[in-house]
Amino acid sequence: MKAVQLLGKEKIRIAEVEKPTIANGEVLVKIKAASICGTDVRMYKNGYPGVSEETPLTLGHEIAGEIVEVGAEVDFYEAGMRVAIAPNMGCGVCDQCVSGNTQLCPNYTAFGISLPGGFAEYLVVPEKGVRQGNITVIPDALSFEEAALIEPFSCVYNGQMLTADVTAETVLIIGAGPIGIMHAMLAYSRGAGQVIMNDLSAERLGTARSLVEGLITLTSENLKEKLDEVTNGQGVNLCIVAAPAPQAQEASFDYMATRGRVLFFGGLPKGNSTVSLDTNILHYKQLGVYGCTGASLTNYRSSAALVASGRMSLKGLISERFSIEDFNAALKNARDAIGMKNVIVFD
Ligand SMILES: [Zn+2]
Ligand SMILES: [Zn+2]
Repeated sequence: MKAVQLLGKEKIRIAEVEKPTIANGEVLVKIKAASICGTDVRMYKNGYPGVSEETPLTLGHEIAGEIVEVGAEVDFYEAGMRVAIAPNMGCGVCDQCVSGNTQLCPNYTAFGISLPGGFAEYLVVPEKGVRQGNITVIPDALSFEEAALIEPFSCVYNGQMLTADVTAETVLIIGAGPIGIMHAMLAYSRGAGQVIMNDLSAERLGTARSLVEGLITLTSENLKEKLDEVTNGQGVNLCIVAAPAPQAQEASFDYMATRGRVLFFGGLPKGNSTVSLDTNILHYKQLGVYGCTGASLTNYRSSAALVASGRMSLKGLISERFSIEDFNAALKNARDAIGMKNVIVFD
């Protein structure tokens, strides 16, 4: 079968590898769609610990496909089921795993990070993943491409679940990438009164407006003044920084209403993650500041249900589809921030 292997920093190969076989507790999935994300781009740009020409890694952690074979000891799952697959598997016994936050397990493993991922024709779900519930069955009406996007959406969902009710509130999202747009969609569906998006790029903001009805977009010059105008000087109740920019995190406190919450979604570039924050604003405005990473399986299942219901439509975020042979063109798009989500599709 074909698989996209990372071999090291800026080294990728579309390899012909052996089709995997499964053990008794495992499930074999024929991949139908897998989308590229910022993590794949970072792993390509920087290389990844333990990954080399001798020990290549098949990338891809935003995955949907069809079960083609199940091990003799597998319950519930059957060949023919259409599924979406959460990437992170915990040890199962630590306090984080027991609390359901397997993505926070200190010994977690993940498809496309430490296990062969979804940019390949077939994927093996190990017994641990089968038993923890990493495989979610999806309805016929949901396309595999959209189902692949459940994963990034579940991370967005996890972040917003930390930040309290937003009903009738003003939400500011900094960064008009696919993640920022998912945040905007979710904030409106949670009842936000107004959602404002900020980005340096007027073009990206235009795309965001076309995807999220009612979205207010603001470019970055004099953002504070513009926000004062939009919020009648009150500031925003929730600010989500979905851009890997230290300056954006630093500036966020200035935009906040009293008792507002700030969510730093996603990390900053390595070596550039120390920011200066005016904690007197935090103090006098009684702000809450949150960080988040990945998604629990509960978050993933809830996200899958929202997407499957059609109430959270992620279709519009898919900007281009590629065959696995054209992976490099898809990766180039993602690297150059062309379009929103670039998806590898399989017959
Ligand atoms: Zn991702
Ligand atoms: Zn654990």
